[in-house]
Amino acid sequence: MKAITVEPMKPGSARFEEVAEPDINDGAVLVEGLAVGVCGTDVEIVEGKYGWAAPGKTRLVLGHESLGRVIDPGPVKGLRPGDLVVGIVRRPDPVPCSNCAVGEWDMCHNGQYIERGIKQIDGYMSERWRIEPEYTIKVDPTLGILGVLLEPTTVVTKAWEMVTAVGQRSFFEPRSVLVTGAGPIGLLAALLGVQRGLDVHVLDRVTSGHKPDLVRALGATYHSGRATDLPIEPEVIIECTGVGAVIGDSMLKLRAGGVFCLTGVGSGGITSRMTVADFSAAIVLKNLVLVGSVNANKRHWFKAGEALARADRKWLERLITRREKPENFKQALDRQPDDIKVIIQFSDV
Ligand SMILES: [Zn+2]
Repeated sequence: MKAITVEPMKPGSARFEEVAEPDINDGAVLVEGLAVGVCGTDVEIVEGKYGWAAPGKTRLVLGHESLGRVIDPGPVKGLRPGDLVVGIVRRPDPVPCSNCAVGEWDMCHNGQYIERGIKQIDGYMSERWRIEPEYTIKVDPTLGILGVLLEPTTVVTKAWEMVTAVGQRSFFEPRSVLVTGAGPIGLLAALLGVQRGLDVHVLDRVTSGHKPDLVRALGATYHSGRATDLPIEPEVIIECTGVGAVIGDSMLKLRAGGVFCLTGVGSGGITSRMTVADFSAAIVLKNLVLVGSVNANKRHWFKAGEALARADRKWLERLITRREKPENFKQALDRQPDDIKVIIQFSDV
């Protein structure tokens, strides 16, 4: 079979090549790969900045935003040939730490977890893959190709769970949320905000194109420009840019007692606008909570599947702005200005 592979930490080493069929030891469930979403992590791995091959191997099969169709469910009850499934990305560390021991591997303490397509275990960018039954998530069949959006939806499902958990420290009935960044994560965070009945505001740099249209189609309000100029005072902010200036500016708009959930990962940038002490004072004086959120556990995967199944299919379809064939994976990884979610499609759904 063919797969998109890369030698981690070696720029320019990615190729679409012949590899061995998936090993039965990888999992009892055999799946036909249908599509894989592309994200910034894949780009970083291909650029040689991140990623680890499995022990004893030099190359890694890329891909963690999967969608596949069951060929052989093995001994698994409740799974049939033809079912649409996605594969969970992270596996608990072998120690295991206390969080991994209770299935909350997204909160792993020791960092010894592994992740398909990223860290020490092959990913899903192949014509076929195998998976352990307990890491297989069944997708609502009416979602079809849109099931490929499940993995990014798990990220925001967890973020919303964090917001709720942290908010419960005091009386907490939020009415409005600001989402910063209108990429796939921001738009899915906005979708979940609308599903919770909130007044949703989304801030991004662009003034035209898919992003403002998609926000308005949700019934949410789109803003561009600086967060400090926004005419709102949200109780919740979900930050999806990782840009320091956006984080500092938007935090100043958060209502006292609010929850600020960070999901973006950035680095560097402007440091002069607000010092750490200024930032800290703002948090203290307004009883704010800053909470970081990354990855997801099985509960979030399940809930993300439910959220997607409830969403308007036509709106979800518009998030997938480009589909590339596996042999053209380089184009898929090359970000275009109007891209939201780009997928590599291995087979028709
Ligand atoms: Zn752990």
